[in-house]
Amino acid sequence: MELLPAERNVRILEQRGPLTEQALQRFDAAIIGCPEESAESTLRSLPHGQLWQKLYREARKSGTPKHLSARVGTAATPVVVLFVKTESSPFDRLTRAARAWKELGPPPKASVALAVHDFTAEHGALVLESLLAAGLAWSAPLPQFKSTKSDPPKVVKLTLVVEDAKVDIERTRAIDSGNHLARWLTMLPPNVLDTLAYRRALQTLARRHGWQFTFHNDAALRRAGAGAFLAVTRANIHRGAGIARLRYRPPRGRNVPRLALVGKGICFDTGGINLKTHKSMYHMHEDMQGSAVAVGTLLALAKMQVPYEIDCWVAITENQIGARAYRPQEVVRALNGTTIQVAHSDAEGRMVLADTLTLAARENPDLIIDYATLTGACVNALTERFSGAFTNRPEWNERIERAGRKSGERVWPFPMDEDFDSELESQIADVLQCTPDSKGDHILAARFLNRFVPPEIPWIHLDLSSSSRSGGLAHIPTEITGFGVRYTVYLLEEDILSPRSRSAGKMRARR
Ligand SMILES: [Zn+2]
Repeated sequence: MELLPAERNVRILEQRGPLTEQALQRFDAAIIGCPEESAESTLRSLPHGQLWQKLYREARKSGTPKHLSARVGTAATPVVVLFVKTESSPFDRLTRAARAWKELGPPPKASVALAVHDFTAEHGALVLESLLAAGLAWSAPLPQFKSTKSDPPKVVKLTLVVEDAKVDIERTRAIDSGNHLARWLTMLPPNVLDTLAYRRALQTLARRHGWQFTFHNDAALRRAGAGAFLAVTRANIHRGAGIARLRYRPPRGRNVPRLALVGKGICFDTGGINLKTHKSMYHMHEDMQGSAVAVGTLLALAKMQVPYEIDCWVAITENQIGARAYRPQEVVRALNGTTIQVAHSDAEGRMVLADTLTLAARENPDLIIDYATLTGACVNALTERFSGAFTNRPEWNERIERAGRKSGERVWPFPMDEDFDSELESQIADVLQCTPDSKGDHILAARFLNRFVPPEIPWIHLDLSSSSRSGGLAHIPTEITGFGVRYTVYLLEEDILSPRSRSAGKMRARR
């Protein structure tokens, strides 16, 4: 079984519009986006306009139609007409785009035309981008272990029929590669993507993309004193756990900003000695999704050749049950010297992230973003539609939330006030790992992690409550969403990454 998805070779072309009846015949299928507000008049000027108008009038008898579909022309080409409100949210646009692809029916649809009609250039570009993103996500091949292979989706060519709309095709394609990688890795069964295989996969990926790869293994972490991370690894059957570091360096530029991405990679989470029940454990091979999203984000940004340095830190281990497993009331010393009183072995995510954040922070980056499927409390607060965001720069919350709105991968900022720390006071150690009950655990987890990021380093923590949702989310059709790759690309476009004045920091420290 391949540990990594094959490089996709979907061709994406642009063709000058409009889409005529004759032009339509050259494709195996088409999706045409139209403004919902002026649906009826727009349909008249579409290829096969009379047919669409008739279908629209029929469909309207049972409510406002969201889309129409028919086979048109001599070749009976399947076409979906999708209605989108001009001022709809990016989330809504992506959701509708996904529905249009679903409506188009099962693959193969080798060559598909994507067009918009009657939108302004700006809105048309947004609708086309959503259709493209949804089409790439819909047709991405995913791990398959059936003895009789079913045909994988075969979209090989997507043609954007544009009049004046401008779509950044390469950006959408880069985001899709990252999301695809994140979903692929997360879907792999736990006996396929164990800690050793995960390390190998990252090594291969690094070689493929020209990134440096280093691995802090068990022995190195022991020498360094990463007691929080090592507590979690203790009951693993093989000693494959460790912290991987992948380094992307931009094609040119010195003194460029430096970004650190950190991900929680629990290849299987039994809960440890505080064992999970059947249903809570059922999907726990997905507990490495945060790390898959960090790596997927690195891939997307590298493909975009962003002009800054990126270090991606991947915390890889299982959380196993066994005679050596770490237990409640143990006190362990983290890499930065903090002593932690263990309360619950299933709160392993914050333990491995603590030491991984310390390693990332030691390189003094200009921004750290971490990704983790960290707490059930975050899902209770937001459901699977949004993910939780936390930052030590509260003045950024507006931008953090806006990037979610714009990308269609929505996040909601939570408070990070210092007084929450009193909940985590320990009688015998510097900090309590978590409280015995789960009240506000997503906030307390963030406050716990905050101890491992020096205050001078800007930091954003994403608790991925929307990593998995039955029926998919927005443009992603699968239960595993890979949420966070698209979000981060948009977040970085909010200008939050700039070089900190390091010398000024030093001067302040001297005073
Ligand atoms: Zn856990």
